[in-house]
Amino acid sequence: MKHPARTSSTQTIAAISTATGRGGVGVVRVSGSEVVAVLQGVVGDVPPTRVATLATFREKGGEPIDQGIVLFFPGPASYTGEDVCEFQGHGGQVVLQRVLLRCIELGCRLANPGEFTQRAYTNDKLDLAQAESVADLIDASSFEAARSAARSLTGQFSAKVNLLVKGLIELRMHVEACIDFPEEEIDLVDRRRQTEQLVALRQQLMKLLAEAKQGAVLRDGLTVALVGRPNVGKSSLMNHLAGEEVAIVSPIPGTTRDYVRATILLEGVPIHLVDTAGLRDTEDEVERMGIERTWAAISRAGAAILIAEAGEMVGAKEAEIVARLPANLPTVWVYNKIDLHAQIAGRVAIGRDVAIRVSALTGEGVELVRQWLLETAGWQPNGEGVFMARARHLAALNEADHHLANAEMIATQFDLFAEELRLAQRALSLITGEFTSDDLLGEIFSRFCIGK
Ligand code: GDP
Repeated sequence: MKHPARTSSTQTIAAISTATGRGGVGVVRVSGSEVVAVLQGVVGDVPPTRVATLATFREKGGEPIDQGIVLFFPGPASYTGEDVCEFQGHGGQVVLQRVLLRCIELGCRLANPGEFTQRAYTNDKLDLAQAESVADLIDASSFEAARSAARSLTGQFSAKVNLLVKGLIELRMHVEACIDFPEEEIDLVDRRRQTEQLVALRQQLMKLLAEAKQGAVLRDGLTVALVGRPNVGKSSLMNHLAGEEVAIVSPIPGTTRDYVRATILLEGVPIHLVDTAGLRDTEDEVERMGIERTWAAISRAGAAILIAEAGEMVGAKEAEIVARLPANLPTVWVYNKIDLHAQIAGRVAIGRDVAIRVSALTGEGVELVRQWLLETAGWQPNGEGVFMARARHLAALNEADHHLANAEMIATQFDLFAEELRLAQRALSLITGEFTSDDLLGEIFSRFCIGK
């Protein structure tokens, strides 16, 4: 076991693993040292290993609770690495609760969110990036997000990280030998080879970072501030952008005067639109709080859409909002209602900004806005190598790159060079969870659903 300190709690855990509600089948899952006793208590026997076996699930006194399939996976060849069993019964909440209560009566405790997967991680069945992708796969809101999460789950992301770590270890061995035997002639050929190796590793890292960034976009999406006077066509544009894909309009809980936010999916990329229409000066305390929240959302925006009517400029109020947008925010000026002004749709660059003429009524030019949003989100079509990645993975990859860049600059000072390589390796290891604090683990797994 890789993390003996983390296996302090080996109490047998149980949970309903299927979603709440009615279903054809419902599953109660159990993991831990008492699984054999639980099986004997619920079905009266231990079924053959890894064979789906029909059984009656019973109360203590013998009263039947349900009839279904029981499965037994002795550890370590199980999801958690411990003894695991599953009762697959009928998918009703009461019947599943009864099976769960019976397991608790037999000495199990209720599993915490993500505890099965946390045990799988603790017992080296999955690394941390794979464990996180389990939750990302369950939460995936689009086909593309699910595909990238599945790639991470099967270890493709971890394999690339591990390959980089392996390369770094080889380079470090070389460099540290030079420190240990300074009297030996370190020839120039050797030194050049080390530099070449470092450059190659950095290139590999940059490629992985680009793939991970795209995965992070699929997971977290892009927040876009929508600025424009009433009636310029913000809602019409939003509806057109959503097109045939699902438009989830989700007012933030709280007062009705909070900012309106809609999430639309473009090629599976969630685009969170924050409407700034409600921004104004006010004495009303409740409204003021809503406005503060809108500003907080705008400060986290990754892009802005400024809408005006074709042939008009933005008003003073909008100009004021634009002035307060975060500096260097990618911005598109959308001139709407071209149908009323006999203009044609098109896109032009204005410095670093872009202007697009559209008609949100006829749909003309809206495709150009879609393309701009996807471009700004960093989306590329056919993202075959994309992995589901989280902000913490990007931070670790960036940190590793920072240390490799430092190493490149001090290639002749072996001890400093070696230290930067060590730090880069440590940053990469954070991704797969070799050096991860218990606090971080607690946070990661607490966001899982119960029973996973
Ligand atoms: P919002 O207040 O900015 O959200 O604006 P709406 O989307 O509600 O649009 C206000 C009005 O303008 C509605 O009557 C829309 O039908 C109309 N409208 C929106 N876009 C266009 C457009 O491109 N051309 C024309 N002719 N009317 C539009």
